[in-house]
Amino acid sequence: MTDIRTVGVIGAGQMGAGIAQVAAQAGYEVILSDIDLPRAQKGRDSIIRQLGRAVEKGKLAQADADAAIARITPVGEIAPLAACQLVIEAATEREEIKRAIFGNVGALLAPDAILASNTSSIPITRLAQAAPDASRFVGVHFFNPVPVMALVEVIRGLATSAETVTAVEAFAASLGKQVVHAFDAPGFVVNRILLPMLNEAMFALGEGVGSVTDIDKGVMLGLNHPMGPLTLADFVGLDTCLEICKVLQDTTGDPKYRPAPLLVKYVEAGWLGRKTGKGFYDYSGAEPVPTR
Ligand code: NAD
Repeated sequence: MTDIRTVGVIGAGQMGAGIAQVAAQAGYEVILSDIDLPRAQKGRDSIIRQLGRAVEKGKLAQADADAAIARITPVGEIAPLAACQLVIEAATEREEIKRAIFGNVGALLAPDAILASNTSSIPITRLAQAAPDASRFVGVHFFNPVPVMALVEVIRGLATSAETVTAVEAFAASLGKQVVHAFDAPGFVVNRILLPMLNEAMFALGEGVGSVTDIDKGVMLGLNHPMGPLTLADFVGLDTCLEICKVLQDTTGDPKYRPAPLLVKYVEAGWLGRKTGKGFYDYSGAEPVPTR
C-alpha cells in the first residue's frame, strides 16, 4: 500500500486550507498550492489564524500549532507536488479547471502516487479520464469546515482500484475522520440530499414564502437542524452551490435540480456567501444581518 508521508493540496481556498490544516496536524508534510504564491500563502495564513484561535481557547498547545504550521509549504507552481504520495485537488468546482490540473499534476507524480478530488458533484469516473491512471484516482470528499466536520465520503470511480480506496480510507482515519462510501453517482450521498434542500430554500425565499430569518429559523426549530439552509448555503459558497445544481441537472437531465433564479442572481452579483462577506447574510458587522 502507498506509504503516505507528503500530501499535496491543490487550491488553498476554504476547503484546501482546511484539508492542509488537518493533514499537517496529523503529522503529514503538506505542500499547499494555488494559482500563484500569494493565494497559497493566504491559505496558509488562514490556517495560522485558525490554529491561533485554538491555542487561545486552550484547545491546542502552542508547540503543536507551530509544528503543524512548519509542516505546510505554500507554493505557486505545481513542480513541488512531484514529492507527494497523495495529492488532493480542492480547486474551484469547474470541470475544465480540474481536468487541466489532473493532466498537468498527474504527469509529475510517482507511479504509485494517488490523485484524489474533493469535488462536490462532478463524476469521479469522468474526471479520472484526465488523470494518467484511473486506477489511482478517487473521490475524497471532505466537509466544511474541515477541522470540525467528522465525515469524509470516499467515492470510487469505475476504474478506481481497491488498493487506492484502502489507502485513502487509512489516510482519512489517520486524520480522525469517519468514512462513508458512495457510488459514483451525481452528488454522491450527502450533496444529492443536501443541495435540493438548499435550492428549495432559495426558491421559497425568491417566491416570498418566508424571509431569510423565517426560513432558517423554521428549518432549525422545525426540523432540529443545527443551522438553517440559507446560513449553510453561505458557508458552502453560493458559486459552489450553483455549480453543484448545474452538475446534478446536467448529469441526470432531471429538471428538479434546476438552480433557483435567486441563487443565479446572487452569484451574478458576486454575493457568494461568507467567503466574499455577503450572501443571504451580510457578514461585515459583529453579527450576520439578513440581506432580504
Ligand atoms: P474556494 O473558492 O474557497 O477555493 C478554491 C481555490 O481554488 C481558490 O483559492 C482558487 O484560487 C483555487 N484555484 C482555482 N483554479 C486553480 C488552479 N488551476 N490551480 C490551483 N488552484 C486553483 O472553494 P472551496 O469552497 O474551497 O471549494 C473547493 C472544492 O471543494 C470545490 O470542488 C468544491 O466543490 C469542493 N467542496 C466544497 C465544499 C464547501 O462547503 N465549500 C465542501 C466540500 C467540497
